[in-house]
Amino acid sequence: MRHPIGVQDNKFAAGGTNRREFIKIITMAAASVGLTSSAATRIAEAATRGLKPSVVWLHFQACTGCTESLLRTSHPALAELILDLISLDYNETLFAAAGHQAEDALKKAMAENAGKYVCIVEGAIPTKDNGIYCKIAGRTAVDLVTEVADKAGAIIAIGSCASWGGIPSADPNPTGATGAPTVLKGKTVVTIPGCPANPYNLLGTVLQFVTLGTLPALDEKGRPKWAYGRVIHEDCPRRAHFDAGRFAEKFGDEGHRQGYCLYKLGCKGPATHANCSLLRYGETEAWPIGIGHPCFGCTEQKTAFRIPLHTTIDIERPMPPDTYPPIHAQQGHVGAVAAGVGGVVTGALLGAGWMASKKLHGGEGEQKKAPDRKEG
Ligand code: SF4
Ligand code: SF4
Repeated sequence: MRHPIGVQDNKFAAGGTNRREFIKIITMAAASVGLTSSAATRIAEAATRGLKPSVVWLHFQACTGCTESLLRTSHPALAELILDLISLDYNETLFAAAGHQAEDALKKAMAENAGKYVCIVEGAIPTKDNGIYCKIAGRTAVDLVTEVADKAGAIIAIGSCASWGGIPSADPNPTGATGAPTVLKGKTVVTIPGCPANPYNLLGTVLQFVTLGTLPALDEKGRPKWAYGRVIHEDCPRRAHFDAGRFAEKFGDEGHRQGYCLYKLGCKGPATHANCSLLRYGETEAWPIGIGHPCFGCTEQKTAFRIPLHTTIDIERPMPPDTYPPIHAQQGHVGAVAAGVGGVVTGALLGAGWMASKKLHGGEGEQKKAPDRKEG
């Protein structure tokens, strides 16, 4: 099958000194975003053949945090990796060019790669009053994204702003801000929500499209299932404390210092589809829950910037499915090595007791009951 994207020179394709390192990074990166090892190998092979699509990156109502997040990574150097995999033909934030020169680059990329280039949208799109609240080169964001997306081979909305409106769409939404899928109705838009979006999720999507010419399986909101198929709560390192009923009640209290579950501080993890608890962020692998702050649900339109930060939410799926392996209490004493993870182990043991108690005395109905709801 002919590859659907434009093919240009790739500095790694000729088998230079960096080739082995490149294959290693690609393989690691593909694996880190959940692709199988055989898929990662195929991707690495295809990447070294020099497939390099033209990318037109549009910025609208955005803080450019998604771009910054991408540029600040170096394990692996995602920005370098992605920028080596693509030909970034238009990006107002990273361009040295400005004004007419930049606009000419946009026209050239669209003309030379019509039907093949990747359109990446960052930022929300204002629709109120004929879209006058965001104009570039005299044209509204609605006009621009419609024209650029119309001739694109693939469309990716990066960040919550581009996916569903994000911060600019928060009440009272004075500009009528919305996401690319709403403006581009009828088109397939891969959404990678997050504030900022995790660069690994962009990398995984770009890797697959660049090298295999396909898009990942998407959920009903256009999100790649491999990245957004589970809620934070399912893979949270504090989950054992939740199951054990051990909650931080206030910032800085004993439970907070002990690393207990943050649900009662307003954690939206149980209703937030994302892979932050597995991939983490940036150089230090820090992420909100890891540093003691509740998840505020930035990937979810119904949650982020709408439900107050410290308001608790109803829990859709409080218990692990019965198909999961049960949490068993370990017998015998806890050794010295276990001391460092004592809280988690204890939580798991207590969780087992709590779960057993629910299953023994509560039945299925009670198992689904959330902890006390707190308003305000
Ligand atoms: S999603 Fe968040 S980080 Fe990304 S552009 Fe919007 S406000 Fe900035
Ligand atoms: S409520 Fe939040 S902190 Fe608690 S286990 Fe779930 S995701 Fe983790």
